Amino acid sequence: MPRTLLRGIPASPGIVIGPVHLLRWEVPEVPADVIDPADIPSETERLRIALARTIERLRVLRERAVRDAGAAEAAIFDVQVTIVQDEELVGRAMDLVAQQFTAERAFDVVMHDWREHYARSPHAMVRERVSDLVDVHIRVLTILMDLPDRDPVDLPDGANAVLVTRELTPSLTLQLDRRRIAAIATDFGTRTSHVAILARSLGLPAVVGLLDATSRLRSGESIILDGTAGTIVMRPTEAELHAANVRRQREVAEDADLAALASMEAITQDGVRIQLFANVDLPDEAAEAAANGAEGVGLMRTEFLVVGRAAMPTEDEQYEAYAGVVRAFPGKPVIIRTFDVGGDKLPVGGFPSEPNPFLGWRAIRMCLDQPGIFKTQLRALLRVATLGDVRINLPLVVSVDEVRQAKGLLAAAAAELAAGGIPHRADVPVGIMVETPAAAVLADVLAHDVAFFSIGTNDLVQYTLAVDRGNAAMASRYTPLHPAVLQLIRRTCEVADRTGVEVGVCGEMASEPLMAFALVGLGIRQLSVNPFSLSRVKRLVRHVRATAAREAAEAAIAAGTAVEAERALRERLAAESPAEFHDS
Ligand code: PEP
Ligand code: MG
Repeated sequence: MPRTLLRGIPASPGIVIGPVHLLRWEVPEVPADVIDPADIPSETERLRIALARTIERLRVLRERAVRDAGAAEAAIFDVQVTIVQDEELVGRAMDLVAQQFTAERAFDVVMHDWREHYARSPHAMVRERVSDLVDVHIRVLTILMDLPDRDPVDLPDGANAVLVTRELTPSLTLQLDRRRIAAIATDFGTRTSHVAILARSLGLPAVVGLLDATSRLRSGESIILDGTAGTIVMRPTEAELHAANVRRQREVAEDADLAALASMEAITQDGVRIQLFANVDLPDEAAEAAANGAEGVGLMRTEFLVVGRAAMPTEDEQYEAYAGVVRAFPGKPVIIRTFDVGGDKLPVGGFPSEPNPFLGWRAIRMCLDQPGIFKTQLRALLRVATLGDVRINLPLVVSVDEVRQAKGLLAAAAAELAAGGIPHRADVPVGIMVETPAAAVLADVLAHDVAFFSIGTNDLVQYTLAVDRGNAAMASRYTPLHPAVLQLIRRTCEVADRTGVEVGVCGEMASEPLMAFALVGLGIRQLSVNPFSLSRVKRLVRHVRATAAREAAEAAIAAGTAVEAERALRERLAAESPAEFHDS
């Protein structure tokens, strides 16, 4: 009996029953055929038509992206049009057709040469163009070889399809159309990789890290995707469809119950008040987060302004994006993080490929090395701080010099604004992400220079356990409840208490009820969670005692392993709260 259940990593909750839309975003194999000399004119014409159709296609995509995501994001498609129109490239392909190559083979040969040539360039800007060349390579061959067009946009309205792909690249993400795509399944990725975070932001159920979904599923076949359980059922039986529908209805009913919590306080049974903030990855989420009862924004990620785009955003564009979020939270804290670019969050151009990007030129390192880019962002932040309670958060700090340098640039940005008579606020609180073991261990040193600590457990787990957060094959080793991680969080909390520096957790741990229980037990009083999880975490807080959470956290830290720590927490949570938390 062939396997019909695919297990992956639950990345974004919800159940969808729908047809697979398989997207193989990879360069197809091209047969090494030759043509008859008599066919050269018609073959040349075929190539010309395919190039023209590719340009048309890119223009449609660009228009859609302008409408859905903004002109700056859509620039990625302009770059690709320029490639297809490049006279040298087209001329070389035409020459090969004149030498009896088929149109697809001619184009394939030229693109392979170009990609190789670009990849060897000493200039990072040029090397980074390779991903656009790959995109164009796939697009033109797909048309020439008459492969079923695989763009996500080609689905009919209301298709309710499950997009199945190896990984979601920035250009694919830009094409996601929620009227057609109801869920996402990827071979690569983990809960904390950015495709998962984005899916949760968009409210699209998702299963990632399936390893071989793209080779096991066929386009058009109907499946059940369960983003809560992290599974896909192939060839579902009537009984399985019925069970999925029942579960779906239960989730919808549960959501309605949870909605009632939005206006209630997050306070434990023994009267400890927990501040519940939201993480905002895209500005559109802010209003929803506020409506769901968020008391502020604990983490506004700003990478959406950079990732997948060809040019850095202007100061005014940034100001508008930040202002939208600040206005959604009048008088409430909005912690905006400076660009955390690098790792798996890459712009289209201008950044070097690195053998080990998570240990490379990312986040604060890139910003300090590019003071022009950084100062533009800092100016926008100082200006937007006139609208509300804005705070600035620096990512991936490992040393106090980084904080001091960043503050130096902030002072310079304030001086520039003052000289130009531009309204701004110069005394914006500056805090750091505690997301490296170095920052947690040095918390007492860093505390002198910062206003707050925001513990980023996604990276803290990765760097403490030396486990790549984006590697699905390592997912079972990525254990946030590892006692070493819990000790670093506790240590940061103790320093914060002693020094009066504010502390919160904004990594995904805060969004998981069982882990939120542990965090409250470790002394955390501020949790910043994805908007979807606000009510779930609030329900947990309202059902438990902080004293019980503390005992549970102590038992977890005393446990030798992540598995034992989890067991200790589960047992205590089960004793504390209703059955609904038992499998959280
Ligand atoms: C983290 O590392 O926990 C975090 C919140 O930042 P990001 O997921 O954006 O790296
Ligand atoms: Mg991080």
